[in-house]
Amino acid sequence: MLNDKIAIITGGTRGIGLETVRAFAKNGAKTILFGSRQETVDKAIAKLQEEGLEVDGYCPNLNNYSEIEQTIAEILKKYGRIDILVNNAGMSADKPIENTPPEEIDKVIDLNLRAVLYLTKAVVPAMKQQKSGVILNTSSMVSIYGQPAGVAYPATKFAINGLTKSLARELAPAGIRVNAVAPGVTNTDMVAALPPEMIEPLVNTIPLGRIGEPADIANAFLFLASDLASYITGTILQVDGAARA
Ligand code: NAD
Repeated sequence: MLNDKIAIITGGTRGIGLETVRAFAKNGAKTILFGSRQETVDKAIAKLQEEGLEVDGYCPNLNNYSEIEQTIAEILKKYGRIDILVNNAGMSADKPIENTPPEEIDKVIDLNLRAVLYLTKAVVPAMKQQKSGVILNTSSMVSIYGQPAGVAYPATKFAINGLTKSLARELAPAGIRVNAVAPGVTNTDMVAALPPEMIEPLVNTIPLGRIGEPADIANAFLFLASDLASYITGTILQVDGAARA
């Protein structure tokens, strides 16, 4: 589905990101994962290599624009183009607002929103030159319904939806599609880190009767990245088993 496409996936060392790296590589993309540390990047590359998948990896600081720019320049030098960017790296929040340290609010906004804008800004010139490209963002079920604590997290995901719809309109004339996937509760470390009293009531609301698996979300990214979605832009694709938070 993605033969010879050059794809970057942030937060590609575990969870939804790693599964998306796997799906893209299996479907013929030259896949480049970004992680927060060289050690975890190397570990993920080695794991995929054991499965017979060759992928590349980098770990720029996603809140340092010049580091991102430098990494994108290196990738362009090596691969000649960038066809797909999946902005997947993200972190959650769960405290009531009055107990949330301001630094924690900053961290969530920096990773879930600022980094997405920085990365997008850095890849768009190459995509415009190519007259084609796909940018995929990771929203969340909570961007539709909100969440009863950790408000910085849904705030960033509502912003991701707005960013996705706006950029889709801005970049469509340049042949660049922009979409988001909004996962429901998905079986990753992020969910394992949340208190059970927050997860259990959510699971009980899922008509499909289970939480999502990383592959459920990776398959949605794969579809939206591929030419099968060539007339889809500005959409927020809910992949949540019809859950209602
Ligand atoms: P995860 O915690 O398993 O993985 C997060 C990824 O982000 C990791 O690869 C990690 O290396 C990367 N990351 C974390 N901090 C970073 C930093 N400072 N700089 C660079 N990279 C960093 O999470 P996941 O569940 O796989 O989540 C992936 C995305 O899916 C996130 O954007 C998340 O908000 C979204 N999401 C997850 C769920 C869920 O239930 N798991 C639901 C809705 C949306």
